[in-house]
Amino acid sequence: MSDAETLFERIIAGEIPSEKVYEDATTYAFRDIAPQARVHVLVVPKKRYRNLAELAAAEPRLLADVAATARKVAELEGIAESGYRVVFNTDGDAGQTVFHVHAHVLGGEQLGHFGR
Ligand code: ADP
Repeated sequence: MSDAETLFERIIAGEIPSEKVYEDATTYAFRDIAPQARVHVLVVPKKRYRNLAELAAAEPRLLADVAATARKVAELEGIAESGYRVVFNTDGDAGQTVFHVHAHVLGGEQLGHFGR
């Protein structure tokens, strides 16, 4: 992976503004700029890995932190009981555009079936 900063590193550093929902020592959660549901929050580990597979292989405890923050976001947004979706887009066919692994937390309404 190149050393070039991704957009999300600049967001975590506060160089690009974001609407923070939650932050702890290892993760940062903020509202997606183009929400695909009433609640659409992105959860990123502060340390960059390209995608879910690389994060899971290198630092499973950090992946667990991302999962815990996704749950925390659901509680803060009031959707923990109604249900929500957590998505990691990975590479081309999934449409990943920012290569700093992130979980999309989606909910707040009945979600359509996913796939094609
Ligand atoms: P996609 O762009 O196809 O959704 P990703 O899974 O890589 O692929 O998601 C990147 C997400 O980052 C998008 O949902 C996009 O709306 C969001 N995004 C891009 N720029 C910003 C920004 N400045 N602040 C918040 N969210 C952003």
